[in-house]
Amino acid sequence: MKKIMAKLRRWSKREDILAVPDDHLDEWLTTIGLMSAIQMGEVACVVCGERIEKSNLQIVTRQEGKLMVICSNPQCMYQFLALKEGESK
Ligand SMILES: [Zn+2]
Repeated sequence: MKKIMAKLRRWSKREDILAVPDDHLDEWLTTIGLMSAIQMGEVACVVCGERIEKSNLQIVTRQEGKLMVICSNPQCMYQFLALKEGESK
């Protein structure tokens, strides 16, 4: 888990990955425009398709102007990071 967070931090400098702060989560989600979509049940994990709720939201990234959300399933985080690393080579 620590390793994932370290990678995330590394990526967040290079890519538009927005790590989720624990405090002020509601505020932050509202700021980036995700809050209402989550409340409407319109947000799904880009890896597994699981519906995203505040409780399982782990990574938010912006790619080509589109917000993408990854759930807290470690498999999804690994898959997402593996994908990102593949892209950079
Ligand atoms: Zn997922």
